[in-house]
Amino acid sequence: MKSLRVAIFGAGPAGVYAGNILASSYENVTIDLFDSLPAPYGLIRYGVAPDHPRIKGIVNSLHEMLNSGNIRFFGNVEFGRDLTIEDIRKHYHAVIFATGAIKDAKLNIPGVELDGSYGAADFVSWYDGHPDVPRTWPLKAKQVAVLGNGNVALDVARVLAKQADDMLSTDIPANVYEGLKASPVTDVHVFGRRGPADIKFTPIELRELGEVADVEIVLYKEDFPEGWFNEEAEGVTNQHRVMARVLNSWLEREPQPAKRRLHLHFWHQPKEILGENGHVVGMAFDRKGEVREYPLQAIYRAIGYWGSALPEVPYDETKGVIRNIGGRVVDDADQLVSGLYATGWIKRGPVGLIGHTKSDAMETIENLVADSQSLVDPVAPELSDVLALLTERGVEYTDWSGWLRLNEHELKLGANFGGAVVRERVKVVDRGEQVEIARAEAL
Ligand code: NAP
Repeated sequence: MKSLRVAIFGAGPAGVYAGNILASSYENVTIDLFDSLPAPYGLIRYGVAPDHPRIKGIVNSLHEMLNSGNIRFFGNVEFGRDLTIEDIRKHYHAVIFATGAIKDAKLNIPGVELDGSYGAADFVSWYDGHPDVPRTWPLKAKQVAVLGNGNVALDVARVLAKQADDMLSTDIPANVYEGLKASPVTDVHVFGRRGPADIKFTPIELRELGEVADVEIVLYKEDFPEGWFNEEAEGVTNQHRVMARVLNSWLEREPQPAKRRLHLHFWHQPKEILGENGHVVGMAFDRKGEVREYPLQAIYRAIGYWGSALPEVPYDETKGVIRNIGGRVVDDADQLVSGLYATGWIKRGPVGLIGHTKSDAMETIENLVADSQSLVDPVAPELSDVLALLTERGVEYTDWSGWLRLNEHELKLGANFGGAVVRERVKVVDRGEQVEIARAEAL
């Protein structure tokens, strides 16, 4: 069994699980895990809503995997810019791409480019303090739409409708708290293009919506005709049954006066975003052949994420994924590209919960291990060669000890926040500041 050098790009759950599975399934391997951001954890740090501490808690198991010493983390290193495919081939036997899907899927309707029409992924990045998005977000709308019936739509709708003070105990950056606190929103309308039986939410997340303080859930009886939910229909799962019960209970609930309302509309196919002077003023939907218009000042498109192409890596434009068969990267003619692998959302598309990423990584690693003895030996396999190259290129990479320092710093900011609210952590947003803290002592 020859000794292997493997690089992974993307330190979110997909990359960390892949590294961890590889470390336990191949004895003689060293793994370097790179991320374009200075901090690890990808989607958990920058995609999960701040008021979802249970999911954010996955960080603890990822931390243990990285802290075990089997995987070496290097942040602030971008694939294609700081390290190219040519560099990778020189230093590693194989590379696994776990770069996820962080852009919004496109919605091709008139008016989508208007001011006030936003991609949900950008908004999520903002409220999660992603360093590469603007620090301010225009929260001036009273009537807002969220398009889509997946969990991202629920996250966005909930964050918009919730009282900012109820999120102060989370790790939301100060500017996010202030922005949300000043928001004049009164009505958040969530629009699904199909019916209530076809929602892609999950039960815990749907139920949670009904428990948000000072928010009334509004459903429309016309969307729930007699027998709207057919228990026996093909593909109906227990999850669907639970969600049907939740929706039915809301239908029967007496209206409660609340500061904000969260409307769930169904059968609303997006038709056109209406504008005046370049700004959103409303939206038209096709509801079962009839056009419905709503006055709105902001629209959040939560219709799915989209994976980005990586330089010199075969990419399927129709699906937003790296071309692959079982995680082995293939070219346009479905021929294997030796030494290249993919896992997570950039492999299978942006669907499924974080747990699904594990089984996905298992498949990719199984294939990598099966190929291992035929992988081409790199000419410069020492880690010091890679780090020297990064230094020569002026890349201010961060490492695991740097992350531990930044982590401590954020926890301390939380502990010292003061006031009545206990804050577990306050995130450092600015990339330069993160790098500076992480590199405070010689690497
Ligand atoms: P998703 O679950 O695939 O939902 C996308 C939604 O957008 C669907 O309702 C889809 O409708 C709708 N849609 C797609 N194209 C549309 C169009 N052109 N016009 C109108 N609607 C359109 O995706 P997601 O919400 O981005 O979530 C991605 C994954 O992350 C999911 O697996 C989700 O469960 C997971 N996630 C989990 C949590 C959590 O808290 N547990 C939080 C966030 C995300 P159709 O069904 O008709 O296609």
